[in-house]
Amino acid sequence: MPEEFDFVVIGGGSAGCTVAARLSEMSDCTVLLIEAGPGDKSFFIRMPLAYRMLRKSNLYDWGLSTEAELYADNRSIPAARGKVLGGSSSVNGMMYSRGHPRDYDRWVQLGATGWSHDEVLPFFKKSEANWRGESPWHGGDGPMSVTKLDDQTPLTQALWDTARELGYPVSEDFEGGLHDGFGLPDLTTRNGRRESASSAFLAPARSRKNLTVITSAHVTRLETHAGRVTQVHYVKNGRPQSVNVAQEVVLCGGSYASPHLLMLSGIGPVEHLQEHGITPVIDLPGVGQNLQEHPLVGTTFRTKKELGVNRHLRADRLTGSVLSWMLTGKGFAASFPLSAIIYHRSSPDLERPDLESVVMPTSIDARVWFPGILSPKEEMLTVLNVVLHPDSRGEVTLKSSDPLASPAIRFNILQAQTDVDRMKFNIRWYRELVKTSPLSDFVEDEAFPGSGIQSDQDLEKFIRSTVTTAQHPVGTCRMGPADAQSVVDTKLKVYGLENLLVADASVMPELIGGHTNAPSIMIGERAAQFIQDKYVSRSRA
Ligand SMILES: Cc1cc2nc3c(=O)[nH]c(=O)nc-3n(C[C@H](O)[C@H](O)[C@H](O)COP(=O)(O)OP(=O)(O)OC[C@H]3O[C@@H](n4cnc5c(N)ncnc54)[C@H](O)[C@@H]3O)c2cc1C
Repeated sequence: MPEEFDFVVIGGGSAGCTVAARLSEMSDCTVLLIEAGPGDKSFFIRMPLAYRMLRKSNLYDWGLSTEAELYADNRSIPAARGKVLGGSSSVNGMMYSRGHPRDYDRWVQLGATGWSHDEVLPFFKKSEANWRGESPWHGGDGPMSVTKLDDQTPLTQALWDTARELGYPVSEDFEGGLHDGFGLPDLTTRNGRRESASSAFLAPARSRKNLTVITSAHVTRLETHAGRVTQVHYVKNGRPQSVNVAQEVVLCGGSYASPHLLMLSGIGPVEHLQEHGITPVIDLPGVGQNLQEHPLVGTTFRTKKELGVNRHLRADRLTGSVLSWMLTGKGFAASFPLSAIIYHRSSPDLERPDLESVVMPTSIDARVWFPGILSPKEEMLTVLNVVLHPDSRGEVTLKSSDPLASPAIRFNILQAQTDVDRMKFNIRWYRELVKTSPLSDFVEDEAFPGSGIQSDQDLEKFIRSTVTTAQHPVGTCRMGPADAQSVVDTKLKVYGLENLLVADASVMPELIGGHTNAPSIMIGERAAQFIQDKYVSRSRA
């Protein structure tokens, strides 16, 4: 491997694969992508139905969890992140989502000039090949395949009819101008296989001679000299190694690792760095602050009718589905059970939805079964209740100066009473929804937490004792004007360093009201464009 590269991209996740692939389009530049996890060839990554198995097994995950969460019964909450080529896009739920157009206009209000919805839309379009084809809202021939979710249960129709009965919109396309009401998300899959940032962006670029990818290599520190990053240090096979940087470094470690690596390199809040014996290079108090996550609480309902998922999970039928998926990329294993996503409001005067309900026609712990050997789990409908624009803020800090140790993560989840109140509203709202026909034809009664939990106090207790997250951490290297909270400017450049960018979910000033994979890829697209523009204009001069 050469000792020096023009561009070094750290972290091969949603944003990192995008950045590395796009930069390697400049054939006269050399690009190195360093990823801590292994390659992504696994069957469990490829098969959409295996999503829950991937989650349960913690295969390809960093195994992070929070410190005791003070407002959630002092529990430690898992903080899943992919540790594999493709990063979290290789282990995520594959729901394609951009959030509400107003989310990006909010970013501008918070100081992210140039990131309004009109300005980010071309980059969402650039990255996708949507099944609907090219349109004002969608890209038709980008690298990432975005497909239609096959709805496999009658419950979805009942949900649509119930929505209409109650006057809620049914959206044909959440990313096509109506990010509101009841609908189904598109999926990031290609021919029935998961489409990660690795399969979409990196795989087609791997044959380029100017692109080098190393996996199972953990970056430990950025070395800086006279305001520039000059070297990237990493550990591979237990051996410390380093590479020289000729032009730029793009840090794409995600919302936990990016601030962590900055602090390990002396870039962060000075006092905190000194507490851990790290020599400060740049005082950036915002590094690791402003952590935002979507609180999520699950509720379940027993059903009057079979919803179909248990039928598919009988061992012989499932084997058939997997074989058929291997041959054709179609069928039950090419998707996962989802009946609806509902974006709605806790108050009618809100300009954008602040709540989401993800409705699944199955229990979370549904299992493979076979008559006489193992019985199926009870038929259930699961609702994941999510607060979209939480007011609580957390942080990522150092536990030690050991680069291989995990950082301390604190969401401070539900610190803001407004978040608890909105969660209560969401749970009660869905309880009313299931009483409305035709959805009521499907629902027997509430299984969890059960009809005994009604009072404000009991509901709050339930919420605080079970809350987890939607796995959408953002904000820890916030983009914005040169103030105490911002870490990068609006071109994603770290304040105080000439040649270091951060490009991943950590730069979002505020959490969007949707899911965060496509927005992270959009950020990767923009970072690559900023660099390409700079180098094209430099080579013209
Ligand atoms: C279980 C789960 C389900 C989700 N479901 C959805 C969904 O359905 N739809 C959706 O839109 N979003 C979903 N998300 C969120 C979405 O996938 C993430 O927001 C997005 O992938 C974040 O992209 P990123 O580039 O910021 O970070 P990541 O994709 O996490 O990439 C960071 C990369 O950096 C690497 N790295 C970190 N530290 C180092 C180091 N020191 N050295 C080298 N490499 C390093 C990591 O291994 C990783 O590959 C889900 C996430 C999870 C975890």
